[in-house]
Amino acid sequence: MLRKGSFETFAWAPAGVPGERNELGAVHFQREADGPGSGTGEARCGRQGRLVQVATTSWDDGHPFDLRVAELLAKYGLTGTFYVPITNDRPVVKAAEIRRLQHLGMEIGSHGVTHSPLVGLPAARHELVESKARLEELLGTEVSSFCYPKGKFDRSLLPLVKEAGYRLARTTASFRVGVKFNPWMMPTSFQFYPHVRRTHIKHALRGANLSGLASWVRFFGMECELLTLSERIIEHIASRGGIFHIWGHSWEIDACGLWSALENVLKRIANQPGFLYLTNSEVVQQVGGCAS
Ligand SMILES: [Zn+2]
Repeated sequence: MLRKGSFETFAWAPAGVPGERNELGAVHFQREADGPGSGTGEARCGRQGRLVQVATTSWDDGHPFDLRVAELLAKYGLTGTFYVPITNDRPVVKAAEIRRLQHLGMEIGSHGVTHSPLVGLPAARHELVESKARLEELLGTEVSSFCYPKGKFDRSLLPLVKEAGYRLARTTASFRVGVKFNPWMMPTSFQFYPHVRRTHIKHALRGANLSGLASWVRFFGMECELLTLSERIIEHIASRGGIFHIWGHSWEIDACGLWSALENVLKRIANQPGFLYLTNSEVVQQVGGCAS
């Protein structure tokens, strides 16, 4: 039976064979087989419409502390996408560390060559193409996800991002949990940083993210405390469906002493009945595609 709500419903794939990754149910079983904290205990999903209940994470700037984030994610059966620039004014993970992130089950995405905002940048195409090629050469796999450096983007960049071969580009738009979105303007639920209300409002207005602002007020009680906000979003998705997408900077988590806060939130996200734990590109391939 299809459950009605403000989010789209879709037909899940039939119960699959562990290891298949082209259908939602199969990915779910794969994650169950991978380790603790990931499964729901459901034996089959069937073809009935089910609420889309997804958690993903993404981490920007490729700082060496990304390894610590990835290990925490893996500990709780979670996953995510790490957006790595080739160079930055902060330390950047080396080749072996990038491979280690991949080995831990994380997706590697591009964050440009020089971490420069692309809006109005003459070298924007080069930043997109060259960073993708360098990461693909290192990893030996396709890099299909991009994250706009410093969160700056406008619609004029979308054709460039598509032409460079990316299938999604993540923004910093917050408080968005819906399954319908433009993959090259992928929104998030919130940044893992203790912003105060005024900052959230400023960001939303500056990014013309009025729907996110409205959701924050209407559904999440303008909550700022990270664990409480996470719980409100999880409860919302548990009853109405949606995508829970946390993003952040590992260097900021360390600088702000947020490691235990992060672990508490990840613990809370793990083991949610019915939730799928996906990378950003898996979200677009499997959920975004179904919802469009
Ligand atoms: Zn960045």
